[in-house]
Amino acid sequence: MKVSNVSCVNCGQVFTGNYCNRCGEKVLHDHDRYIGHFFEEAFHFITHFDGKFFTTLKTILTRPGKLSFDFCRGVRRPYFRPLSFFLMLVVIYLLFPAFSGLNMPLSGHMGQNGTYGGYATSRVERYLQSHPEVTKQILSDTFAKKSATTSKLLLFIIIPLTALPLWLLGYRKRPWYYDNLVFATELNSFFILLNFLVFPALLNALHFVLGGAGSMADLVLTILVYAVILLFSFRAITRFYQFPWPISLLLLLVLIVVQTFIVYVLYKFVLFLTVFALL
Ligand SMILES: [Zn+2]
Repeated sequence: MKVSNVSCVNCGQVFTGNYCNRCGEKVLHDHDRYIGHFFEEAFHFITHFDGKFFTTLKTILTRPGKLSFDFCRGVRRPYFRPLSFFLMLVVIYLLFPAFSGLNMPLSGHMGQNGTYGGYATSRVERYLQSHPEVTKQILSDTFAKKSATTSKLLLFIIIPLTALPLWLLGYRKRPWYYDNLVFATELNSFFILLNFLVFPALLNALHFVLGGAGSMADLVLTILVYAVILLFSFRAITRFYQFPWPISLLLLLVLIVVQTFIVYVLYKFVLFLTVFALL
């Protein structure tokens, strides 16, 4: 086989092969100039995008933890970047206004007894006193309108928060905070996918079939979804940290407690503060 040196037309680097090893520019061959190629390239971005997106999706669903494991050892070509994938899920989630996920009406924040409920209530009372033209109903409506989108965009703050306990507990195997961020992104991607997209879709389908809300069927479905999330998380932790299973199980139990606090207290409090600041 003939190996010849080429000099890169973009950066001047001399190299062998089809791609510049400094800037990544591709060597242009005559067959790249065929008319068919011109149109193929136009669709390349889309088809390429699709391929990577579905590989990432499939890997997350069928081999929990593999995406993070691969990504952290440098195997990145086959996948979407985990954070870009998470962003895509949030965008898809934004397209379905009916799927409310973690969104909550104003009264829900005020009812957070034991955490920030008292603070939220006094904040609302002070607002109503300083805005006599605003009734409680108007405030609730405006809050709900702003909260619908904000609650979805704000999902990003959950990733660094989840990564913190993972980093502390998995430090022996994964000392880089970065690696734990990648893993937190995968876990939360799965969480959004199942809990905010698949679960409400199944619930709607169930209600459609049963004609109205069947509370027993809802309960079974809820338990099923959470069981899948737990199994997934356990499998992902075992694969990513390579801990023996009892340690993985311990990590999972701690993670459940911390994650519940992050999602249902910290995140909701930040959501309340953010939406209130936007009023
Ligand atoms: Zn180059």
